Amino acid sequence: MLISSFSLHQSVFEHLPDAVYLIDPQTSNILDCNAAALHQVGLPRDEVVQHSVLSLQKDVIGIEQWASIAQAVREAQGQFVFIGRHRHRSGAEVPVEVTTSAFMHQGCEYFVSVARDIGRRLALEQDLNDRDVQLRYALTEASDGLWDWNLLNNEVFFSPQLKRMLGYGPHEMKPTLETWATNVHPDDASRVRRALQEHIKGLRERYEAEYRLRNRNGHYLWVHDRGRVCERDAQGQPIRVVGMVQNITDRKHAEQALQMQASHDALTGLLNRRECERILQQQLQRCQQQNLPLGLCLFDLDHFKDINDRFGHQTGDLVLRKVAHEIQAHVRAADYLFRWGGEEFLLVSAGAPCGHVLHCAQRLRARLAELDWPEVPGLHGISCSFGVAMFPEHGQQADDLFLAADSALYRAKAQGRNRVELAVMA
Ligand code: GH3
Ligand code: MG
Ligand code: MG
Repeated sequence: MLISSFSLHQSVFEHLPDAVYLIDPQTSNILDCNAAALHQVGLPRDEVVQHSVLSLQKDVIGIEQWASIAQAVREAQGQFVFIGRHRHRSGAEVPVEVTTSAFMHQGCEYFVSVARDIGRRLALEQDLNDRDVQLRYALTEASDGLWDWNLLNNEVFFSPQLKRMLGYGPHEMKPTLETWATNVHPDDASRVRRALQEHIKGLRERYEAEYRLRNRNGHYLWVHDRGRVCERDAQGQPIRVVGMVQNITDRKHAEQALQMQASHDALTGLLNRRECERILQQQLQRCQQQNLPLGLCLFDLDHFKDINDRFGHQTGDLVLRKVAHEIQAHVRAADYLFRWGGEEFLLVSAGAPCGHVLHCAQRLRARLAELDWPEVPGLHGISCSFGVAMFPEHGQQADDLFLAADSALYRAKAQGRNRVELAVMA
């Protein structure tokens, strides 16, 4: 029987039981794939071919990460293995072991990846009724990664899942404590190291920390890390610690978004009035204790109602956002800027003397009056009136200071607007 070898190869490719992808290493695009690949992700051919292979992966995040993986594939000079998770159209995750190799064909470089569904293998292992296998399976599934640290030689075993979480293949990441330590966010490092040391010294029952860990392309993931000494020498000194890591990035981001919503104004992104009351109180207390002045500068856009009336509320919003952004860019880093109300803002300058606060208010006033408005045709400028009050001259408490600044602002409005007025002595 004579069969065309090309059509036989095509047919074999199409009928292979594992998912096979042909990838362009430069763009990460899938150039071709077989039926098993389409079945694995539940997508039609045109939603897979010519799409980036990153769109299938839950763990590879950006093109920078792809570039680094592509380099690792070339350097592997054989087969590069990556334990990942493919997204199925239904939303389910498919655990896969992806083996990739690079090859040249007619002067072009290609990658061929075989993505084996290891969900079935894990399920089979579970059926083995072997307690060790089951325990390992349960631990693996309950966490996003395991580590095992040998204190005698400082070697650390990182599980393939932990490497996957950070975007590395199972044969990458040097098994040393340093590999982990250099990837902990510098702002978290000393806190995390202290928690670990305290556990090793016996001051804490177990090690537990939430911190940021850098992934392959330099982004930070938030992790919850827990561990415990599990082996000691004859003198009772710890010689082995094991732990598990959970990726809590999504939860952290949701928490941060909620915190942001609670303390910031949604329109301008500035700190809101509630936060103002808390921070003003705190700064005032600090200045009282350290015998420092504190400036309060309340300001209000002039004739803002006219802007809404002439250009509409949406344009009014745009003006507010731009004004907020402009002021924020021109105040000291140590100052606090709040959106106090509709078109009123408050600037708190702890430690700044009266002359400085007045100068700063004049500078902001001039800056706003000079601002161009190319984005609002017909608007030829806006202005703002300022009322300044100082601690301790114009009041001891936040409420008194605020009233003093408010009446100075009222005077600025009454005397023609676009001006700065200082409160009068109580
Ligand atoms: P004055 O110079 O005396 O301050 O005049 P004004 O028109 O600025 O004063 P007034 O306090 O009467 O009007 C403020 C206007 O600001 C009324 C309100 O509709 C508008 N405003 C308040 N909050 C917002 C907002 O979030 N977006 C928009 N677009 N307008 C707002
Ligand atoms: Mg106003
Ligand atoms: Mg107002």
